Amino acid sequence: MVIVLTPQATDKDIEELTDNLKARGFGVHISRGVERTIVGCIGVLDSEKAALSEQLRALPYVDQVIIISKPYKLVGRPFRPEGTVIDVRGVKIGGEQLTIMAGPCTIESEEQLMQTARFVKQMGAHILRGGAYKPSTSPYSFHGMGEEGLKLLAQAREETGLPIVTEVMDTRDVELVAQYADILQVGTRNMTNFSLLKEIGNTRVPVLLKRGWASLIEEWMQAAEYIASRGNYNIILCERGIRTFETYTRNTFDINAIPVVKELSHLPIIADPSHGTGKASLVPAIAAAAIAAGADGIIVEVHPQPERALKDGPQSLRFEAFEEMMQKLRRLAPAVGRSL
Ligand code: PEP
Ligand code: MN
Repeated sequence: MVIVLTPQATDKDIEELTDNLKARGFGVHISRGVERTIVGCIGVLDSEKAALSEQLRALPYVDQVIIISKPYKLVGRPFRPEGTVIDVRGVKIGGEQLTIMAGPCTIESEEQLMQTARFVKQMGAHILRGGAYKPSTSPYSFHGMGEEGLKLLAQAREETGLPIVTEVMDTRDVELVAQYADILQVGTRNMTNFSLLKEIGNTRVPVLLKRGWASLIEEWMQAAEYIASRGNYNIILCERGIRTFETYTRNTFDINAIPVVKELSHLPIIADPSHGTGKASLVPAIAAAAIAAGADGIIVEVHPQPERALKDGPQSLRFEAFEEMMQKLRRLAPAVGRSL
């Protein structure tokens, strides 16, 4: 259940309440909003809910008690109705300003990464993406540069000031990747890797949680709940397309997911039109559609020479295409109440 406190509730009241709930064996999570604090109470049996909520409502500093029937509570909208803004080295994700994450699918060399980083920065991107540990459907494809790639990302951040987002695939690598990354990416193939979700939940590093390519929105929300239940609330959701009967595009970008997530959750949502379509020519249109639908930003693949890319070349934007897309999005943003 979610306990909404009155605006007058003091720190002492919050402490009294949390001590009381913990003493009864419940998990307690606190969301401090600008106006009021909301306390999430986890582990209450259905049979206890009515009596407990009545007791809590009687407390002078409790305004409302909401019983949540959904299987995800901490990432659900009622826990933070005003929405979550995640601060990544000063870049605010989920606020009025749109967030543009851009960079190569995979780090291939110092030159490739640095050139791309400088260009996307110059065009106004806020976050640099790049994979050092790559998931691959085939065991024979390139699996990334590993720690060498992470070092290059750190070098690109040093030079451009752009925070970095990069994927972690294995629980054994979380500690290492977290030493470099500003945002840990959980890829589509790992959305239901619960050990990985728990491990990342134990850190406090922001997470970009991609939707599984065959996952329901409800399952995706529960994957986010895994991370939040460990105390890491810095979660950014990412719609990256799902598999449907259509094969013309690599995936089908689920535009519905954007406003659905806004209804269900307080977490920011980012669109990935690169994996969502698999074709560079379609990326700007789907980026614009996602932003019009309410996405908080996009993550796109950019490569200096897509025809030579080791991975995901066909969906990677050339520099000129990225520049054009940015101009288009800059015109669009104010029409949907956002800045860029
Ligand atoms: C990627 O971002 O390059 C990637 C592998 O994404 P996804 O997990 O969505 O396929
Ligand atoms: Mn990719």
